[in-house]
Amino acid sequence: MSKRIVLLPGDGIGVEVVREAKKIIDYLSERYGMEIRTGTYLAGGASLENCGEPVKDEVVEACKKSDAVLLGAVGGPRWDDFPADKRPEKALLRLRKELGLYNNLRPVTVFDSLKDASPLRPEVVDGVDLLVVRELTGGLYFGQPKGISEENGTEVGVDTMRYSVPEIERIAVAAFEAARGRRKKVTSVDKANILASSQLWRKTVASIAGNYPDVTLENMLVDNCAMQLIRNPSQFDVILTENMFGDILSDEAAMLTGSIGMLPSASLGDGPGMYEPVHGSAPDIAGQDIANPLATLASVALMFRYSLNHEQAARDIESAISKVLSDGYNCKDMSRHARHVLSTSEMGDKILETIKTTGDSK
Ligand code: NAD
Repeated sequence: MSKRIVLLPGDGIGVEVVREAKKIIDYLSERYGMEIRTGTYLAGGASLENCGEPVKDEVVEACKKSDAVLLGAVGGPRWDDFPADKRPEKALLRLRKELGLYNNLRPVTVFDSLKDASPLRPEVVDGVDLLVVRELTGGLYFGQPKGISEENGTEVGVDTMRYSVPEIERIAVAAFEAARGRRKKVTSVDKANILASSQLWRKTVASIAGNYPDVTLENMLVDNCAMQLIRNPSQFDVILTENMFGDILSDEAAMLTGSIGMLPSASLGDGPGMYEPVHGSAPDIAGQDIANPLATLASVALMFRYSLNHEQAARDIESAISKVLSDGYNCKDMSRHARHVLSTSEMGDKILETIKTTGDSK
């Protein structure tokens, strides 16, 4: 059955890392007879230059009709002073909204060969392999009322943390399903000792947990979670949390690895998912063929797992990344932890060659 993938390289190093991703997608498509068709479109600054819009309607339509979207990164100093609705980031926000992407997944894995790259001691990050499941379309970032107004002669800013039961249920189901394929533990993070929305969150998550007797549920307050991530991060398997807590905790968790160029993400909804590296367009190194493509390649692995339902292809990529790193290869950003430093395109080729020689071709 054929599959359609929209590639949105975007700006800066986005173009370079998505080029490497395409090599891997094309190869795995052929290897497993998946008939994947890719289409490349403009987004972000590149689209602004071309047509004055951060993303064209027809590109959003193509994304909606696809099976998955792979985004490089958008933005750069050239567009920093553009008005809010003409900024490259608007492309991302529009796509997240129109694709209904409520489920943001950020896996954080500390590879054995890169324990020294973490700002924490190697023995603290040893064995860290966790997944942050963040609710992406509710909570403080979207709740109404919201805004700055004047009250009694002074300005007042208001945001509303609001969650309904169905919003909590669907993200809880996503977390429990993910835990089933992992170590079967969900840590639900809230502030139920103070916040009403968290009390509802805790009650609703507990009711969903009843459908997953094989998965252990633990509740943790967000302040404690921030501390535990530094004290003993390997205790976590799946961290389930609301939008703003997830925003903060996922960045904290990401830093356990000490390597921004290597972190993937997936944003899922009821339609096509969007996959992107956590890093931005890195204008300081764009066009030099030195960007690390591993975050994007790991995002492609997530795409095979969650949108294309091909676990073997996902594992082929993940095992290849792990092997290449343990063989001492990495890019310039991680050169202190590598015996061999590769360019962007050399790393793409190295991963491809490793998949070809070590993957399971069944
Ligand atoms: P950035 O992630 O682009 O770069 C931060 C630092 O990390 C830079 O020194 C960069 O060289 C380095 N870096 C990032 N990715 C790397 C990689 N793959 N390999 C090697 N080094 C890498 O963040 P920034 O500098 O704050 O933002 C630059 C632009 O990207 C801005 O316009 C910002 O708005 C945009 N941005 C976009 C996204 C996105 O598209 N999702 C996310 C974050 C930032």
